Amino acid sequence: MTATRQDIGSTTPDLVVEARGVRKSYGRIEVLKGIDFEVRSGQVACLIGPSGSGKSTFLRCMNHLEKLDGGRLDVLGRIVGYREKEGGRLQELHDRDASRQRQDIGMVFQQFNLFPHMSVLENIIEAPVHVKREARSEASEHARSLLQSVGLAGKEDAYPSQLSGGQQQRVAIARALAMRPQLMLFDEPTSALDPELVGDVLEVMRSLAASGMTMVVVTHEMGFAREVSDFTAFMDHGLLLEQGPPDQVLVNPQHPRTADFLSRVL
Ligand code: ADP
Ligand code: MG
Repeated sequence: MTATRQDIGSTTPDLVVEARGVRKSYGRIEVLKGIDFEVRSGQVACLIGPSGSGKSTFLRCMNHLEKLDGGRLDVLGRIVGYREKEGGRLQELHDRDASRQRQDIGMVFQQFNLFPHMSVLENIIEAPVHVKREARSEASEHARSLLQSVGLAGKEDAYPSQLSGGQQQRVAIARALAMRPQLMLFDEPTSALDPELVGDVLEVMRSLAASGMTMVVVTHEMGFAREVSDFTAFMDHGLLLEQGPPDQVLVNPQHPRTADFLSRVL
């Protein structure tokens, strides 16, 4: 990965994610029950926990895709979903403004969600050209260098269906990076892949972490969490039950629910 500090953005605040008592309900079901969570610039945080514990919902909140029902969430120095007016009054954002806030946040999903009718290069330059109004030539040049950094130099004219799942996921990462995000969110990026394709994707994420990108990664890859994350947080039933250095949380968990979960996945 050859991403530079410049790619990542020079104005990243020190506290990139700051969640205080974050609550979210769907109908009568509360899926986030008061989450406190902090990620500093350049840190890699891994979120682990059983299916249905609220990991994806929490990531979606960070990416301005969900409105909170309680608490407060600041991402990249802005309150998710609101604008702070003079005197500290909060005003709800329109969808258009929310999507503008989302531009600095890259997201990679389990399903790669590439546009099937577009080439790899077109997939990568789509948002920079149409959302950020970058010149096509500049966006294409950036796309080529990103493709090289994810190990896919020369694949710009291929279509997604001609690539393996692991290659498609690396294109999806390059596509997210093309917007020069200051924060990258990954939601189980390797869960849909055949086992032999997982390693290349994790390798790209490892290099991205080493380049200084701030990352929140929902994953079941405990080896990755242990090796790459600055801290790992365990979620269960909408609560963040335990967090700390991965060597502590994954090896010597303090909460019985963490220990129980780990005994089933390791
Ligand atoms: P995880 O990613 O940890 O598996 P999710 O955040 O996807 O968990 O889901 C947490 C809970 O919220 C689950 O019980 C799920 O069924 C519920 N849920 C998620 N999204 C929605 C939605 N759009 N509408 C209703 N319930 C939802
Ligand atoms: Mg999920």
